Amino acid sequence: MDAGEKRVRAFVRVKPTADFAQDMIKFGPDNKSIDVSIQKDAKQGVVDNRPTDWSFHLDGILHHASQDLAYNTVAKELVSEALTGYNGTIMCYGQTGAGKTYTMTGTATEYQHRGIVPRVIQQVFQTSARSLEPTLTIRVSYLEIYNETLVDLLCPGRSGDGPLVVVDSPRGVYVKGLSLHPVCHEEEALNLLFEGETNRMIAEHTLNKSSSRSHCIFTVYIESHFRLCSDVKCVSSKISLIDLAGSERLSKTGSEGQVLKEATYINKSLSFLEQIVIALADPRRDHIPFRQSKLTHVLKDSLGGNCNTVLVANICGEAVHVEETLSSLRFATRMKWIMAQPVLNETASQEGMVKVLEKEIRLLKQELAVHDCLANRSWVSYNPLTDNQIVEIKSQVQRYLNGATDEIDIVNVRQVQEVFKQFKVLLRQQESEVEARFRSKYLLVDKNDFAAVAALQKAGVDNVDGSVAWEEDGRHAGTRTTHFSSRHGGKKSRKSNEQPKKEGNRSSLSGRDLDFLPKPQSIISTKDLEVKEGAGKQEAADADAELSKPPPEEDTQRPSSPPSKPVAFEQFKEEGGSELSRIFKENKSILNARRKRSSAVAQRINSIKREMEDIQKALEAQKQERWQQGEYVDEKGQLIIDEEEFLLLMKLKDLKEEYRSGRAELQDLRTEIQYCQQLVDQCRHRLVSEFEIWYSESFLIPKDLQEALKPGGNIRPGMIPINRVMCLEEDEQDRFERLQETTLPACPASVSFYRARMKTDQKHSYARTMSSLEQMKKKPGLVRAAGKNKSLSLLHIT
Ligand code: ADP
Ligand code: MG
Repeated sequence: MDAGEKRVRAFVRVKPTADFAQDMIKFGPDNKSIDVSIQKDAKQGVVDNRPTDWSFHLDGILHHASQDLAYNTVAKELVSEALTGYNGTIMCYGQTGAGKTYTMTGTATEYQHRGIVPRVIQQVFQTSARSLEPTLTIRVSYLEIYNETLVDLLCPGRSGDGPLVVVDSPRGVYVKGLSLHPVCHEEEALNLLFEGETNRMIAEHTLNKSSSRSHCIFTVYIESHFRLCSDVKCVSSKISLIDLAGSERLSKTGSEGQVLKEATYINKSLSFLEQIVIALADPRRDHIPFRQSKLTHVLKDSLGGNCNTVLVANICGEAVHVEETLSSLRFATRMKWIMAQPVLNETASQEGMVKVLEKEIRLLKQELAVHDCLANRSWVSYNPLTDNQIVEIKSQVQRYLNGATDEIDIVNVRQVQEVFKQFKVLLRQQESEVEARFRSKYLLVDKNDFAAVAALQKAGVDNVDGSVAWEEDGRHAGTRTTHFSSRHGGKKSRKSNEQPKKEGNRSSLSGRDLDFLPKPQSIISTKDLEVKEGAGKQEAADADAELSKPPPEEDTQRPSSPPSKPVAFEQFKEEGGSELSRIFKENKSILNARRKRSSAVAQRINSIKREMEDIQKALEAQKQERWQQGEYVDEKGQLIIDEEEFLLLMKLKDLKEEYRSGRAELQDLRTEIQYCQQLVDQCRHRLVSEFEIWYSESFLIPKDLQEALKPGGNIRPGMIPINRVMCLEEDEQDRFERLQETTLPACPASVSFYRARMKTDQKHSYARTMSSLEQMKKKPGLVRAAGKNKSLSLLHIT
């Protein structure tokens, strides 16, 4: 037997009788075996070789057993298991009058003689009442199978929805259309049981049918939700309580007409049941024809499946019924061979989970209300934020970021979440602004566009040999270089006909495929890094924070590119900028200390002021009193006041003094704060601008250019502002491209004109640059000025 496999249990219940055939039927001492022996009828005069003795072994024999004992033996354990999620079936089998209905339903008048069904109901509800988690849902149904017709005994007038049908489903067999009645207590369930019984009797009377010829199934459906740690589980089960029709043989009844038809049906369904029981007991059989009859189909789960099944074979003890008794005992024995595999019906119930969680939320809200009440915070609301509240939070976050406020009101988690959300929104906005800024400053080049890249590489390094290129109009000065120039090196060439793609064409390219090339003013200015004061505790790290903004993705993806600015800034603070960084931090901490002091003094002044106002009020009251009572004057005509008033006046005088000194201190502190603030600002600017220089020198400017920048080099200090060394200015080519984009589409005829214009300008630029180069060449330590992919890079030097 596999683990978890169980045999169907079979019991025999003997109906009490004064005429018990004790010579024929004998019970074993273990109360589990039963021997039946039949005397051969000698009068028949023929040789009869049929066996005369039988021995049956069952799970228990209920002889002279009370209803109580019968229940405890047959049903109690099964019901307990049903309450933990295992389906259970109890069925009574036997000839008419053997006590099936008595066992299953019992008498409706006497409590102690109630049968299994009312006792199951009682056990279920008693367990539910004792349960710590009263989330047990119980429903019942009552089905009758009569002549292969399914009848809902709890919904007798049922019509319109079509006949009841037995349906197979992945979760088991069920009767579609059968009414399920939720019941909250034992009485309600019993009412339904009795109502079903009554409906059965009425039908029996009006349709002239015999109740003993129908099968009745009372089912109790149990669903219980409970929590296992944080999981809400739902176990469901059903207990099917079956009172089968009489199993007597047709020949014995001698039925005719309607009754014959009924008996045929009963026999048919019961003999199908027997066939199935035989098939189930045979491990070689793989197909079990459950669908042969309504009864066997309905019992599919109970017999062949995942269910605890118990059979009670009701027998009569009289000698006259011995054939039927033998037949019932054979059936019971065969049932015992059936194996079942009870399965726990456990699901993560969504409905149940919602119920349990709702309950928990209610409880937690109550708990929170108690805590708030104790903490004097009863005004705090935990409801979802209104639109107005969200707008207010957004404005607070904006003010916080602008430095207009040091604090954001936080009273509950929803607000915290909303604050973060707003930060995120603003961050996204800033990101797109930064991206737009980069796009306006850099040219995007498709890395896969080899022609463009090659042209750029060429142009990036192939500039005028070791010289600075000069712009013809002389508006700006600068030495051109790009990341390409430092990365790729390369040959020298004076001209390249390759044109870079227009930015508009490249906008659809992914970030991965794009590379940034600096345009004029592409380096990060101190203004960009400027951080406003007044951002609370974060202030001291303002410059760091600004520099710590993630660089554009493209930047970080370049393998040979310089380190990102935030990383470099950290390095700078450790190295060249360490002293400056230390001073910056010191200044910040002095500033913060002054601010704290200032706020403490301001608070003190306010409290003095309030105290003074109180004393003034008290003095006013004293004065009023004096006037009403008449004033005392001494011989010199001076007013006499009482001691209390005198003390108040003295106190007021002291407070005024204290107030004045406090005001003076506050004034001094404010001046000091202003001064410190300036120091901090200056320090920050210096830190950032020195970092920029350090960064350019360390990572961006090619070695030879650095040489040229050294004292005695080709470029005199101050000749080219260091922050513009990397800049690239718009030249004729750029201007032409821009024109093409704007003017030319509207006026295509102007193409030749503008092209000619551009060529002339380039020629002029070329001539000027060449003459400048002649001058540069006269000095050693040549500068490689890397330009763009234009014929000549035209850089401005002021
Ligand atoms: P079945 O449903 O098998 O046709 P019933 O349950 O209707 O038989 O029983 C027939 C009669 O016998 C009923 O009056 C019932 O009260 C009585 N009876 C059956 N079994 C017992 C028993 N164990 N103790 C007392 N009376 C019984
Ligand atoms: Mg009956």
